[in-house]
Amino acid sequence: MLGAIIGDIVGSRFEFNNTDNYNFELFTEESTFTDDTICTIAIADAILNKKSYKDSLLEWCRKYPNPKGAYGGSFARWIVADDPQPYNSFGNGSAMRVSPTAWLFNDLDTVLLEARKTAEITHNHTEGIKGAQAIAELIYKIRKGAIEVPKHGYVTKVYLEEGYYDIPLLSEIRKHNNFNETCQITVPQSICCFYEGNNFEECIRLAISIGGDSDTIGAITGSLAEARFGIPPIMVHEALKRLPDEMIRIVKQFYNIIQWG
Ligand SMILES: [Mg+2]
Repeated sequence: MLGAIIGDIVGSRFEFNNTDNYNFELFTEESTFTDDTICTIAIADAILNKKSYKDSLLEWCRKYPNPKGAYGGSFARWIVADDPQPYNSFGNGSAMRVSPTAWLFNDLDTVLLEARKTAEITHNHTEGIKGAQAIAELIYKIRKGAIEVPKHGYVTKVYLEEGYYDIPLLSEIRKHNNFNETCQITVPQSICCFYEGNNFEECIRLAISIGGDSDTIGAITGSLAEARFGIPPIMVHEALKRLPDEMIRIVKQFYNIIQWG
């Protein structure tokens, strides 16, 4: 969960000002949480404190109506609607907020079911659900040691319950990465950065320096990297400094109860 939050905060200043520099400064005065953090907190809060995913997302997003980078257009309308309904989205919002499900449920079927539920209140398109389930499934299997993660190197496909993703080459992504916020494009990109990094920080640096929807690619990649590598304490410290107390309360509640292994 903090992996997603850190990826979001680090990427926040690059979403609309992309960098291809790998050696950028991780945290500056400008670095702040955005919608990816707010929605991830909302999903964790829902599970931890027995709220529906929909109610919790509405509650948190209405409380923070103007994050840096703003909400996506359709999601922004969903937040303020009188009777918010799913809108068949395949945006990457379903994948960036899903990570708490992979830690707070302890069998794969339940993780996949809950990941689907977090997605389909807004992102009920097949690709929106697949994006959420793919990330939840990978985090779950990694934390359980259920899949072999290569130490380093190119992986062509990731097999998932919902079919597979073709994973692009890092060099291909770098060649012509335009801004794109769909699951189909950004989830495989994030998985690539996760596989290519040798530690948490490297994964985040790769995720940001490929350009595109930086904070969200950072969040998705960070959520995977946390399960494999853990997070350096200094990065946790820098992230917590940038969160309001009510979010830190949810983060603490989460890390007090997650089951490892
Ligand atoms: Mg964002």
